[in-house]
This record gives sequence, C-alpha cells and structure tokens, in this order.
Amino acid sequence: MDAAIIRAGVVGRRVFHNRGLFHMSSEPGAREVVYIVWVIEAGGHITLVDTGFSAGVAAQRGIEAHVPTAEILSRLGCHPDDIESVIVSHLHFDHFGEPNLFGRATFYIQRSEVEYFLGRGRSHPVYRFADEDSIACLPRLIKASRVNLLDGGVTNLGPVTTMHVGGHTPGSQLAIARCQTSTVVLACDAAHTYDNLTRRTPAAAFHNYDECQTAFDTIASLARGGRWYPGHDRSICDTLRPIGDAVYELAP
Ligand SMILES: [Zn+2]
Repeated sequence: MDAAIIRAGVVGRRVFHNRGLFHMSSEPGAREVVYIVWVIEAGGHITLVDTGFSAGVAAQRGIEAHVPTAEILSRLGCHPDDIESVIVSHLHFDHFGEPNLFGRATFYIQRSEVEYFLGRGRSHPVYRFADEDSIACLPRLIKASRVNLLDGGVTNLGPVTTMHVGGHTPGSQLAIARCQTSTVVLACDAAHTYDNLTRRTPAAAFHNYDECQTAFDTIASLARGGRWYPGHDRSICDTLRPIGDAVYELAP
C-alpha cells in the first residue's frame, strides 16, 4: 500500500442532542457535530471517502456553515473530475449526496447497503436519513458500471482498504489508509464520536446492535498503534493541521 496523504474538509456543522447521539441515553444537553469529507492521495490517485451534500439538503436538515464539496476540493487544489474513486461509508444523506458531481469516479458501496436503500429499507422510518434524490441516481450509476458493489469483508483498493462492519446500516464500511508513519482508520458512522466507542454505545438510530458492538472492537483493534477518526466528532478538527478555511491535513 502506498503511503497516503490524507486531508479533511468540514462541509457543515450542527448542534445534535445527546439523546440522538447515544442509544438509550436520557443525557440532557447537546453538542456540536461536524460533517466531514476525506480526501486521500496516494500513488497519483485521489480517493474521496464520503461525498458531503448539497446546499439544499444542508438547509433542509438544519446544517450550518455548509461548504459545498466542490469548494472543499478547490481549496485542496483539485476538482471533482480529479476524483477517481469514491468510497461511500453508507448511504445516509451526509455521506452520499450529489453523486453526479463526480463525473469520472467509480463509487465503492456495499451491495447490502444498496439493496437495502433501493429495496426494503424504503418503507422503514430510518429511510429518512437518506437523500431521496441521491438514492434515485443509483440505478443509473449501476447501469453505467460506475458503482462497484462490494460483498462484505475486506476490499483492497490500493491506497485505501475498505472493511464491511454493518451495524449502523446494513452495509456500513470503514476506510483504512496507511500514512508514512501509521495506519489511519476512518470509522465514519461506525462511531459517530470518540465517546460512542468509549461508552460502547452506538447512536440512537442503528440497524444491528450486535454488529455495532463488533464494529467498536474492530475499530479499536485496527487503530492499535495507529490513529482513528470518528464520523462527526468536532474535536477531530483540534487534532488536525488547518491548511485553509475548513480544510485540514493529517500529520504524516
Ligand atoms: Zn453521518
């Protein structure tokens, strides 16, 4: 695996109630969460982990300080057409939005996730976490061979490896990259915040509780001797080096 340069862009912020962030919690109060896209560069290849979302979706969902993903990429010196691979951790609105923006990319999504959101999941209340317009693009993208449907386990995509963990949604997956000095695990929503893993408590909405617990074990074990980043913890920004407005770089 080539050593990767990993950058992050914060595409929005929102105050989130603790009861929504921790299953079975009656904890009062709320905390700010951030919405992140990850840009991984290795061997001349640019991979995006999760896509961000449109300004319309941000407004609809009460997300503030929205920065379009194209703008984040421009601040990082690239263009949506430079993105060759998009790893979609899962199909919730904040991780899979505006897929048409990435005209050249192949999307890597778990088959179980696509089947759920195009099929039986549509009648479940949790479907509201998906962006209907973005989900509606999937059949066309699949037909055009722009979606690589992954069948669980571990998939090596060169600079980045994906690992199916399920739990939060049927096809939730981690992205794992190797920097110069350590392994970096992007947990995405397998752990929304550091506290979710510490307390062994998933966020209120999940698909399979047992898989959420196994995912916590997997993240902790993969990150041993390396680093890991949860999906929405605002403290992530304090640990990264700012390289512009709302854009950050991980230490190598
Ligand atoms: Zn999320």
